[in-house]
Amino acid sequence: MAKKSAANGAKAFKYERNRETPFKFGAHVGMSGGISNAVLNAMDIGANSFALFLKSPRKWVSPDIKDEEAEKFKSLCQTYGYNTRTDILPHGSYFINLANPDKEKEEKAFGSFLDDLKRCEKLDIGLYNFHPGSRLDGDHDEALARLAKNINRAIKETKFVKIVIENMAGHGNLIGSDLQDIKKVIDMVEDKSRVGVCIDTCHSFAAGYDVSTEEGFTKFWKLFEETIGWNYLSAIHLNDSKAPLGDNRDLHQKLGYGFLGLEPFLIIANNKKLQNIPVVLETPVQGDDSVYGEEIKLLEWLQGRSLDDPLFLAKKDELAKLGEKERAEQSKKSQAKASKKSKVSKKRQAGNILEATIIKKIK
Ligand SMILES: [Zn+2]
Ligand SMILES: [Zn+2]
Repeated sequence: MAKKSAANGAKAFKYERNRETPFKFGAHVGMSGGISNAVLNAMDIGANSFALFLKSPRKWVSPDIKDEEAEKFKSLCQTYGYNTRTDILPHGSYFINLANPDKEKEEKAFGSFLDDLKRCEKLDIGLYNFHPGSRLDGDHDEALARLAKNINRAIKETKFVKIVIENMAGHGNLIGSDLQDIKKVIDMVEDKSRVGVCIDTCHSFAAGYDVSTEEGFTKFWKLFEETIGWNYLSAIHLNDSKAPLGDNRDLHQKLGYGFLGLEPFLIIANNKKLQNIPVVLETPVQGDDSVYGEEIKLLEWLQGRSLDDPLFLAKKDELAKLGEKERAEQSKKSQAKASKKSKVSKKRQAGNILEATIIKKIK
């Protein structure tokens, strides 16, 4: 990709941004050295939207964003044409669990959550994406109610930021892997204009929704419309999946390399309903953000193409080949996991039979 000329003194960016497309293709960018750097990092990969962390995602306490830095962030967004209310989707810290059955831990999570939301408002950011958390060893419906209660509290303590719930991959006791969970939570949110949903393609697939084909994706969106409703869809996370369908493993992969393949991304890049919302890549880049620049260009290239386009089919095969080895490795892991599960259940069955025999003997 050619470097943009800096002859006029303007900053040169690695990838040219496509401002003609109605899609807001973007990626999760770094903010080290100051939150305002995220804006330049987004420009560097030619992104029309971006995600970022508002503080270290693995630490409970981080220093506040300085007024000067917040001003710089907003002014850079204005300079480069990012609407802070619609084009930026921060990602919440991973450990925030608003559904935690332990009261003290729930309060700690709420404190960090509210701090994130206040950071958004300081930066004039209109959307905030987070993981709905885990019921741990508690009751599932009570966990959903706790989450909704905390969303309601947070809305009352902030002014405008929309709280966007991400769907999950379904491992452990996580909530939000089933679209029904998200629906139930939204039903309990009082101010529905302040809540939205982010669909992560990898998480959907890992949770058992087969979005790898046009037919499967159409079914998924129909289910989404019936269960939650289009008006709540606020963002998309674009990831291929390293693990097979329904494996409940949250393993992001580069577009076209994984078990999803390139087809669902062509479908996304041609779905008019997904225009004007952040469509954000979270694929593994191993510290090299230029991978995102390439993937954004790939998404733009997929626009206007059909599934039987020979160029698309060749691209699909090319990327699938690059991911072949990793898919085979992950298939093995998933089979090993399945056979372990069936051994455990066989043991359990054997245990039950033994128990029944003992009971019979006692009788
Ligand atoms: Zn996430
Ligand atoms: Zn995600």
